[in-house]
Amino acid sequence: MSFQNPVFIPGPTNIPDRLRKACDMPTIDHRSSLFADLLHPAREGVREILKSKTAEVFIFPSTGTGGWETALTNTLSAGDTVLAARNGMFSHRWIDMCTRHGLKVDIVETPWGHGISAQRYKEILARDTDYKIKAVLATHNETATGVVSNISAIRNALDETGHPALLFVDGVSSIGSMDFRFDDWGVDVAVTGSQKGFMLPAGLAIVGFSGKALAATETAGLPRTFFDIRDMAAGYANNGYPYTPAVGLLNGLNESCQMLLDEGLDNVFARHHRIAEGVRRAVHAWGFDLCAASVDLYSDTVSAIRTPDGFNATQIVTHAADVYGTAFGVGLGDVAGKVFRIGHLGSMTDVMALSGIATAEMCMADLGLDIELGAGVAAAQAFYRQGQTATHKKAA
Ligand SMILES: *Cc1c(COP(=O)(O)O)cnc(C)c1O
Repeated sequence: MSFQNPVFIPGPTNIPDRLRKACDMPTIDHRSSLFADLLHPAREGVREILKSKTAEVFIFPSTGTGGWETALTNTLSAGDTVLAARNGMFSHRWIDMCTRHGLKVDIVETPWGHGISAQRYKEILARDTDYKIKAVLATHNETATGVVSNISAIRNALDETGHPALLFVDGVSSIGSMDFRFDDWGVDVAVTGSQKGFMLPAGLAIVGFSGKALAATETAGLPRTFFDIRDMAAGYANNGYPYTPAVGLLNGLNESCQMLLDEGLDNVFARHHRIAEGVRRAVHAWGFDLCAASVDLYSDTVSAIRTPDGFNATQIVTHAADVYGTAFGVGLGDVAGKVFRIGHLGSMTDVMALSGIATAEMCMADLGLDIELGAGVAAAQAFYRQGQTATHKKAA
């Protein structure tokens, strides 16, 4: 690996200098007012990025996985039923966590490459007339397959059936990069981490709780200590934590929110969409398909690319690391060896994406795939030039 090259894995993402500096702090007393001055703005910044007026934001020294656990253990009791779709490695792992906590999971098995079927959810919710289902789980962006699901449609499934279940959304690889609407979508718990859209090192679990989810903590029976949001809320009320906070990362988070909000969320989302579309043009120029089964499912943060049958896609990732010092993502679980992934989220520009596309082409050609060097790059260039022209016109 080279420390000069950007990474093209879908998290951890590239860390801008501004954020590396923000994380690099002298020790401060986390019981002093100095700490309060970075804790509360960081929480407020996250709330804005979630597009929420009311969400309570909690930040744990952990990772996205700890955010899943925070959602489950604070709101549910052993034996409760949750509804979840399995369409990739991350949704699979969240389901596994539910099972290990003694929850019953009503699983909607979904082909990898497809999104959550709101229609199936609706049918199941409609049949659940005695409201056994206490929570509905949705992975907004399935990072293993590069598939985005329609959370608004899942909200409608709940509303149209009048079902009172909580809605938990894994936004680990979407929040801060793709549009996420906590309030409009009636999300009860949103989960993310520091190392994807927020462009920071791993180390924070970031969650937003609705009023309804907060109320559920009073009756939830699952054991919890480290992730108990009541302790965390009590800490925040005193400008502190129930234990030692990750001060540097929180300072970084505060700065990251500023960067995203200064760029403007719509601009951030448009940038991710443009970069992703250039990558997709390249993939199609290579003659390959995405794992995502249709255009409406395409993720703007990660592309999982199917390689020809009989070819082990993981070779591309190994070769890129060994020969070109560049990181791509391997296929996970059911699609291991069948896809490789280009992560294009966080601190990413058109120019960086072009270097990733060019490197992927070299790897594929080296490994004997029928790739014309430059074909994908040219397709992406043509697309990015249109985007730049439009931007220049706007600026002028
Ligand atoms: C990365 C990721 C996770 C896991 O987060 P960790 O920070 O690795 O614990 C969960 N869900 C999705 C969709 C992810 O992309």
